[in-house]
Amino acid sequence: MRDLTLCMNYASRRNRSLFYVFSHLSGIPELEEEVSPEGKTIIDRVIRDLGEYADLSIKRSTGEVLYKFITKSGYLKRLISSPSPSDEEKVKNIARFFDIIRSTSNVITHDRVPQFISYLDLLIEAGDDPAAAEIDMEIDAVNVLTVHKAKGLEFPVVIMANLVSQRFPSYFRREGIPLPDPLIKDILPSGNFHLQEERRLFYVGMTRAKKELYFTSARDCGGKRPRKISQFIMEALDLSKADVVPNKVSSLEVIERNAPPVGKEGQREETIPPTEILTLSYRRIDDYLTCPLKYRYVHIIRVPIMQHHAVVYGSALHEAVQKYYRRRLSGEKMGEDELLSVFHNCWTSEGFLSREHEEQRLEEGRKALHRFYQMVQKEKHLPTYVEKEFRFPLENNQIIGRWDRIDIHNGEVCIIDFKSSNVREKKRADKRTKKSLQLALYALAYQKIFGKIPERVELHFLESGLRGVATLTEENLCQTVEKIKEASAGIRVRSYEAKPSYQACRLLTCAYQQVCPYVFLGKR
Ligand code: SF4
Repeated sequence: MRDLTLCMNYASRRNRSLFYVFSHLSGIPELEEEVSPEGKTIIDRVIRDLGEYADLSIKRSTGEVLYKFITKSGYLKRLISSPSPSDEEKVKNIARFFDIIRSTSNVITHDRVPQFISYLDLLIEAGDDPAAAEIDMEIDAVNVLTVHKAKGLEFPVVIMANLVSQRFPSYFRREGIPLPDPLIKDILPSGNFHLQEERRLFYVGMTRAKKELYFTSARDCGGKRPRKISQFIMEALDLSKADVVPNKVSSLEVIERNAPPVGKEGQREETIPPTEILTLSYRRIDDYLTCPLKYRYVHIIRVPIMQHHAVVYGSALHEAVQKYYRRRLSGEKMGEDELLSVFHNCWTSEGFLSREHEEQRLEEGRKALHRFYQMVQKEKHLPTYVEKEFRFPLENNQIIGRWDRIDIHNGEVCIIDFKSSNVREKKRADKRTKKSLQLALYALAYQKIFGKIPERVELHFLESGLRGVATLTEENLCQTVEKIKEASAGIRVRSYEAKPSYQACRLLTCAYQQVCPYVFLGKR
């Protein structure tokens, strides 16, 4: 801290940036002598990192640069290892920021940090509120939103803050380049148009409240002059200026505002009561049974992960195959060229080890789809259902999911799931099918909804063209029910103990290996 203060003081006295001072430290005698050896090591690292990330920012996508920074610096690991709810909240905010980066990368031509920053600035300037872009109404928390962002939403309690003149209504700034009158087709309202717009916005803010609405303002909002209360409050409450008496805060109250929040740090999350329905999918159940900590990272705090090349490859293949069947079921045809173009359109150049690696995977995907296309030309029957969603109750849980494909022929039911993983032996394909929790859960769903166990379940391995086939029994489905109950019981009491093992951490390539403090580092 002392070293940083020395450098900052020097920078402000000489009108230099802190970066300049850091990078010229050895040439500034008064700092060279005063800054401690530890401080110099840290400054060296900061300069090195800044250079590295500046270089990376023009070569790699925004998400990749940010992910590298939060993992390499140890920041993400530190946050997820902390028991503090505020650190957990920070991880969730980082995850939301990654969502913004992901959606932005679809609209900017070159997904690089400088372009992303300019785009973000434009959004903020245009009145958008990126920090609140992804508010989650399911979470019981305070949402801080602009009135624009709150449009269409409702909350039990709304607090409208900063209600002082020149903030709400805001100070009217003329358009930089006003539109010439002949170009304006609409009939503009007479009077103070800006004030009317602001009044409408105020009304939108007020009507977001379902039970309670609070207006707040302050005489001191920074600056030299005291602020006047917003005229809209008076209008809304039908008050005159004389009716408004400022609430004077005592000195003790001012001091107490700085006290730490009571009972928040380290507080355990509440359990989910048996009366509440818990919604579970195959992915959630499997993640929990594999490692409860992984479940927490993925589904509770949504720790951001780097896009993996296998996911890009798998989802592009999957989308092409599903689109092919959807078209066939709607009575239309789809040629091989179109199948390949769906695959290419779903492809994103993220997570690959190199350009060559990406080219190799693209080529493998094209070959897999060619094989798939040849194979489906020989199929005598169309699927009965494709991408059909299901949900069924199981005690106090609701199980949801989606069957990739169901074939019903001569009364025999076959549930099929497509896989992009590379399995090249029939014996292994059959074994994986028989042991698949996903297919067992899909068969259970079929039994619950249609009253019978499917005759067959199959995994279709797109890369090799192999089909794994298995039949499931009542006993298999009972075991699946037990697994669902086990996951549900653990999730309800919020038990998220790490279950590190070679299988969970390494073989299944857990995406959190780099940041998880419990990762299994031993041998098989
Ligand atoms: S790295 Fe291993 S212990 Fe850590 S979350 Fe993943 S599976 Fe669990």
